[in-house]
Amino acid sequence: MSIKDKLQKRIEENYKTKDNKSFAEYNKIFNFPKEYKMFKPHLDKINQIVILPYIIKSDNDPNTRVSKGDSQYVLNYRRHSGVGINNETVLCLNQTFRKPCPICEELKILYDDYEKNKNLIKNIKVKTRSVFNVLDLLSDNPEEVMIFDTGWWDINKKSGAFEPELMCEIVDPDTKEYVIFTDPSEDGYIVKFRAFEIAGEYKHNEYKAFRFEKRKYAIKKEILDKVLSLDEYLIVPKYDEVKNIFLGTENIENKQDDDYLEKANEFPKQENKKSNLCPHGHTFKKDVDTTDDCIQCTEWEKCSEVE
Ligand SMILES: [Zn+2]
Repeated sequence: MSIKDKLQKRIEENYKTKDNKSFAEYNKIFNFPKEYKMFKPHLDKINQIVILPYIIKSDNDPNTRVSKGDSQYVLNYRRHSGVGINNETVLCLNQTFRKPCPICEELKILYDDYEKNKNLIKNIKVKTRSVFNVLDLLSDNPEEVMIFDTGWWDINKKSGAFEPELMCEIVDPDTKEYVIFTDPSEDGYIVKFRAFEIAGEYKHNEYKAFRFEKRKYAIKKEILDKVLSLDEYLIVPKYDEVKNIFLGTENIENKQDDDYLEKANEFPKQENKKSNLCPHGHTFKKDVDTTDDCIQCTEWEKCSEVE
């Protein structure tokens, strides 16, 4: 079985066993403080939020036009979801930071036979997201800073994604001036919009009917002090870390470490021979690709090397 077939088998298995575990549980993109809640748009009301500005404090904002010390209100990033045996969500290093991304590399191969691989491609292809600090004025605590992480897709399609729809409205048609909706002073705005749940294979929200209403009050300093510099919480993984999640080797490696420790305690050290390097008890190099254990084996690359 080639590496491509192995990957495809893995992806297919993951695709079939997708479960409903929460965003936070498998989100490996941000390490926001636990006390911060995610904002969930109201589907039955006209939403009223305040989008809060923050100062960029690191070199991790993917937007190349901004840098440390600049004022910002949104962090746009690109991610792969449904990745690995745990359906994890990981940052796309290629399309977020123009660095090599192992998942994009695999996608290139899958695109060679698009018809055959289209479901797999749809599952793991890059998706763009926007993150904001917001106040939900309809919530029980309208002074609580919350995180809003939402999908972003082609602005030209006017597809109902949050940020493109918001951007369509930021020029005042009468004065032709920009609406500085993130201004925390009394000149700032409340952002109003409707959210609609779109059912189907990929349930998501679409956003329409944006308008800005003058707020006429300043945001309190103690609220602004709680706004997160989103760039500081972005986890930028290493190439090999993404690869491990993708190939499902992360947990297996940990498990093997545990197994190894158990065995080390059980037997005298000299019995931990390295004569057979196959972690599953098959014959190293001889039995390669002949058993199901080979599919997720951490030693596969070495085992399959031609000497
Ligand atoms: Zn990628």
